[in-house]
Amino acid sequence: MDYKQLVDKAYEKHNLDKEEIERLLMPENSEDEAYLFKKADQLRHETVGDFVHLRGLVEFSSHCRRNCNYCGLRRDNTSLLRYRLSPDEIVDIAHNAAMLGYKTIVLQSGEDEFYTADIISDIIRRIKQNDDVAVTLCIGERSYEEYKLMRQAGADRYLLKFETANPEHYAAMHPDMNYDDRIRCLMMLKDLGYEVGSGNIVGLPGQTIAHLAEDIMLLKELDVEMAGIGPFIPHSNTPFRGEAMGTLEMTLRVVAIVRLMLPYANIPATTAVGTIHPQGRQKALMAGANVVMPNVMPSQYRPRYEIYPSKICIGEQPANCRMCIEGIIRSLGREVGTDYGSYKAGQ
Ligand code: SAH
Ligand code: SF4
Repeated sequence: MDYKQLVDKAYEKHNLDKEEIERLLMPENSEDEAYLFKKADQLRHETVGDFVHLRGLVEFSSHCRRNCNYCGLRRDNTSLLRYRLSPDEIVDIAHNAAMLGYKTIVLQSGEDEFYTADIISDIIRRIKQNDDVAVTLCIGERSYEEYKLMRQAGADRYLLKFETANPEHYAAMHPDMNYDDRIRCLMMLKDLGYEVGSGNIVGLPGQTIAHLAEDIMLLKELDVEMAGIGPFIPHSNTPFRGEAMGTLEMTLRVVAIVRLMLPYANIPATTAVGTIHPQGRQKALMAGANVVMPNVMPSQYRPRYEIYPSKICIGEQPANCRMCIEGIIRSLGREVGTDYGSYKAGQ
């Protein structure tokens, strides 16, 4: 089977073994690669359609108890000026985002235990009282009881990337975390009826093609409702300063293959892919992605949530980002989604 036939097989069956995924990750020429992107884009059009769903991202705390080797928010980074927003501020920012037309609010932070499940639950309730929006949480590992409380308070979705599916590689990336805990958390979230998002980082130090294939297999196995795939961007205040950045090409290939494997998943064109290339998000939207997560934070906080450096839109205010992203989506002949953009399983 040649490369294009393998793409066709993925397009029809949504099921490949590890060796086949590895082959798709390494096209021999640009024509083969273009075919992969084209078929992923075609399948995206047929399954989730031409609407691009926007998720308003509220980065409410940059405090983190973890020490992930790649991340600028890791606790050993003492140069970062940290901040925590009050519940009132978070609710206000979410309301402003809803006023700008966002139908999903994503509450994201470092792993910050200052915000108990009760505090988060209260914030979710208040956001939902104010506005007709879905709420996604992205706040790391918590206990079953905590996940349950927040779900009962109205949280609809949860984003927890496994970052790498290979347990040894996971251990090398996360000095104070455990691969089995991560998977257990994802299972608990599924069990509680959250729409679950997970994903990886493309180009992490020490990553191989086999690792990337394992990442894609795990997304398929978990049958995630969302798949977040972004390139690694080195940060100078981490142990991975000086390591190579993930590439646009490999990130787009992973996005495209994940679309072929998980036809109905919501797949964001990540801020990270927009950071490594000026057309990165556009290219991802044309290779299988159907979601964008614009920042809705007031600009004074943005530089202080420095997961990785040179993040785009750092000086912008939420209303500008909203306009800008709509322009991007329309320039691709697509439309901004007007409903929650929830996961829709295939018929
Ligand atoms: N603390 C939460 C959410 C905030 S981090 C959590 O870890 O789940 C959100 C995402 O940022 C992580 O899942 C990781 O994939 C990504 N990230 C962190 N550092 C990065 C880097 N240097 N380059 C690219 N992505 C990074
Ligand atoms: Fe903390 Fe998340 Fe960064 Fe890890 S990736 S250091 S958990 S903010």
